[in-house]
Amino acid sequence: MLITLTEAANRIKAANKILITSHVQPDGDAIGSTLATLLMLRALGKHAQVFIDDSVRKNLQALPHFEEIRRPVDGEKFDADLLLILDTSPDRIGNVRKLTDAPVLNVDHHVTNKNDSGDLYVEHEAAATCEIVYKLARELDAPISPDVATCLYTGLATDTGFFQFSNTRAETLAVASELIKCGVKPNFISEQMEKKSLAEVKGLAAALNSLEMFYDDKVAGMTIDYATAKTFDSTEGFIDEIRVIDTVDVAFLITERAPNLCRVSMRSKGVDVSQIANKLGGGGHIRAAGCTLKMPLTEAEKILVAAIGEAI
Ligand code: 5GP
Ligand code: MN
Repeated sequence: MLITLTEAANRIKAANKILITSHVQPDGDAIGSTLATLLMLRALGKHAQVFIDDSVRKNLQALPHFEEIRRPVDGEKFDADLLLILDTSPDRIGNVRKLTDAPVLNVDHHVTNKNDSGDLYVEHEAAATCEIVYKLARELDAPISPDVATCLYTGLATDTGFFQFSNTRAETLAVASELIKCGVKPNFISEQMEKKSLAEVKGLAAALNSLEMFYDDKVAGMTIDYATAKTFDSTEGFIDEIRVIDTVDVAFLITERAPNLCRVSMRSKGVDVSQIANKLGGGGHIRAAGCTLKMPLTEAEKILVAAIGEAI
């Protein structure tokens, strides 16, 4: 059921033991929004815990209180009266779903979130879930400590490509401004987020070597095979290197994460790539979306290129 922000805040006010989670393959908005919410809810006297069912990229481990995040273990249960799912629909939270049967409160900004198994507050215009969590904090009268602000700013910055993408609105910058007043050091976050390991930079070089162009150079794609992909754990930012090609509308990156398991990232300047991802079992936003294809890399590329061809 779709609810309002005030109703979402009321659900939180009424709960005492809150399990907070977000999607697998967590990004800055997933980690930023869950950690910020954790700190806020604890400051309000709630018993709260974050569980994420995946490893977290090293850059994001620099966020305050990162060590509080737990990964569910097999058969584990968590005593909660609310399951708060941020930045995704409930189908992408992995085994966190098995930790509790508590009612779901889902807060998200993805157009592809069609969750109908609980209360959903979705704001498509919000640049990041962190932007919504900021508004929730105001509804809840929760204090925004420098640590909370740092987490929220990270989600805003990473989901907007550091305030460059089309989802950057006046309101986004107004929230960022408030967060800086609350103690954020923007340069600290930028420096943490841009760090790459040597293996990652070498992986980027290999990815760039695989560049192929399709459909009169309107589509650019890169692939990373398993042998290369297993030498590093993040491809964050790789796709942006080819999105910039002047003729390109859609850029894609396919990473073979395990044999017959391909992760697809897409970026666009016009075409709605969330529709393409949706057709292939994934989702996302108009200009940034992704999916997982359980097949060999060459087959995944054929299917993806055909699906993009239909859309452009
Ligand atoms: P990225 O390319 O950075 O992994 O993802 C871009 C956007 O698409 C993000 O907003 C992300 O949440 C969304 N996305 C990526 N992969 C999936 C997927 O498999 N399912 C859904 N629903 N969304 C995805
Ligand atoms: Mn997000």
